[in-house]
Amino acid sequence: MRVSRCFLPVLKESPSDAQIVSHKLMLQAGLVRQTAAGIYAWLPIGFRVLKKIEQIVREEQDRAGAQEMLMPTIQSADLWRESGRYDAYGPEMLRITDRHKREMLYGPTNEEMLTALFRDDVNSYRDLPRTLYHIQWKFRDEVRPRFGVMRGREFLMKDAYSFDLDEAGARLSYYTQLLAYLRTFQRLGIQAVPMKAASGPIGGDLSHEFIVLAPTGESEVFYDAAFEEFDWAQGGLDYGDEAGLHGLFDRVSSTYAATDETHDEARWAEVPEARRRTGRGIEVGHIFYFGDKYSAAMGLKVSGQDGKPLTPMMGSYGIGVSRLVGAIIEASHDDKGIVWPAAVAPWQVGLVTMRGDDAASITAADDIYAKLTAAGVETLYDDRDERGGVKLGTQDLIGLPWQLIVGPRGLAAGTVELKNRKTGDKEELSIDSALTKLTS
Ligand code: ATP
Ligand code: MG
Repeated sequence: MRVSRCFLPVLKESPSDAQIVSHKLMLQAGLVRQTAAGIYAWLPIGFRVLKKIEQIVREEQDRAGAQEMLMPTIQSADLWRESGRYDAYGPEMLRITDRHKREMLYGPTNEEMLTALFRDDVNSYRDLPRTLYHIQWKFRDEVRPRFGVMRGREFLMKDAYSFDLDEAGARLSYYTQLLAYLRTFQRLGIQAVPMKAASGPIGGDLSHEFIVLAPTGESEVFYDAAFEEFDWAQGGLDYGDEAGLHGLFDRVSSTYAATDETHDEARWAEVPEARRRTGRGIEVGHIFYFGDKYSAAMGLKVSGQDGKPLTPMMGSYGIGVSRLVGAIIEASHDDKGIVWPAAVAPWQVGLVTMRGDDAASITAADDIYAKLTAAGVETLYDDRDERGGVKLGTQDLIGLPWQLIVGPRGLAAGTVELKNRKTGDKEELSIDSALTKLTS
């Protein structure tokens, strides 16, 4: 993509109305704009990041055997009356009346809807277990929307729902999602620690929150440094390996991690002092096992192997896809701007001409751009006739993993400069070596 044709509204100054660094950077680098309190438009650069995160979440859900679908944002109030949550949910629910005076709502979550869909179409024990998910916008009329997309009113969530024949099966589905979450966050390039949680309005007795460490986080966290050392993607644990999944759960449960809500001083004291980590954290995911709470209330039954009716046991599993954009920036930035983990970067390379009016630079950069694009390397090419320093400042702000800088002086010697955004390391390389490095 050529910057000369982009909608990339970068602000010169850091916006003073934003309180936390990720919100400031998302506004300054042109990722989002607020259109109403807690409601945001995703501009092209922010949208690219959102889609990358969504795709990683999707791939890991699919790998864990969950199946994607799409449920609507608008739901009927009657559906929520069946579970008893229409009144219980309170003022966070955005209630809408249509032209026929029917009561509707903008969905804050989808337990009721999927339970009703299963009630109509799932009849036999042979149709279970199943885990379904969708990635869809939610609305919660938060009292204090703040911190940009971190606590918005409209936000994008991946929510999965599992249905099993019995508690043992449902626990296995829960452990499966636990592993999928650990792998998802690891691929996103962030450290998210699972913490035992109180389950709140969703209900139920087994629940974990996934917390990313950041000084601006809303909850206080305490965990064993062992969580920083696990490599969830490796270790070859297979989703079909029941004993392995139980082992994973035992390992997670026996390694200390808690938010201020569940913190236990006695157990904390048993963690060796050198391994105690404390700080603040942001909740990026939350999983729940709640048994027959919705299936029983809404009359979902299947016929069991012996012909008798069975009430399926359920769990639900959320990831805050749009919140993650902010959370990743909180965890990965410096005083110059965002430092994207490669997996979610909007482009991998920022190609910059230091002199947009120098014919030799333009010819060389056009050629590099064509070659990178042909090799499938996502490149943002700053081809504007703008001061080099301004362009480099923009590059640091938007935080692509690599900057490839083309200037008249280097070209005379046959070289370009390759800068690693994260480390700041710079290398003078021939154009060919730079291309080899970026395309291999
Ligand atoms: P919180 O405690 O932060 O209000 P929650 O516990 O109400 O969140 P869940 O019902 O667990 O939220 O939703 C699943 C995920 O959706 C959360 O882990 C979070 O990442 C995301 N999420 C929830 N509320 C918001 C919001 N207002 N803005 C952005 N993301 C949100
Ligand atoms: Mg939660």
